[in-house]
Amino acid sequence: MQLIIILIALTVGSAGSVAIAGSLLLLKQDKLDQISNYLLTLAGGTLLGAAYLGMLPKAVKLANNADSVFVLTLTGIVLFFITEKVILWRACGNKQCERHNNASAPLILIGDALHNFIDGIIITTAFFTSLEFGVVVTLTVLFHEIPQELADFGILIKNGYSKSKALAYNMASGLTAFLGGLIAYFTLDSARKFIPWVLALSAASFTYIALADLVPQMHKKQRLKILFFR
Ligand SMILES: [Zn+2]
Repeated sequence: MQLIIILIALTVGSAGSVAIAGSLLLLKQDKLDQISNYLLTLAGGTLLGAAYLGMLPKAVKLANNADSVFVLTLTGIVLFFITEKVILWRACGNKQCERHNNASAPLILIGDALHNFIDGIIITTAFFTSLEFGVVVTLTVLFHEIPQELADFGILIKNGYSKSKALAYNMASGLTAFLGGLIAYFTLDSARKFIPWVLALSAASFTYIALADLVPQMHKKQRLKILFFR
């Protein structure tokens, strides 16, 4: 797969989402809320679709071993849970802490950098299976990154960062997508037998983000009517 296409995709997924989130901040609050709601729904659906209609069928086909693929996917979900638990536990000492809300800005940026690193690996791996799937996964990353970046902006600004500084830091933490993407590119090109296993872990990551991060946000601030009829 052409490196240049992957680099464009990584730019769209990382810098693109930060730029779109940054420009959405210029909107009025009620408009922004409405768009965020749409984005959450779109992000949750595309993540699950990419994982269950794309990644897992491809992984099973390539590995020719469904049992191991699903064991690894489940292990991945548990590992993502533990990682997030540790990060949140370090983030907030007090019991009243709402998830993320009291997290310190540096910790948000580190968590974000790690997440973007993984997204970079996921984008590159998708392109190794096919051009079309690479494009689908890049859009899936873009859709879930926009609400994520919006949330990060909110936390950074609450912590006293200016808008431009928050934008710059978010861009910087987005650069790790290139690191993950390029490591995956040069590793997987010579070790294609690992592709199904990376796909299984990618499906675990997408499942976790959709069900553990996005769905609770939808339950918190959306009535059914807003979800479906607005
Ligand atoms: Zn992401």
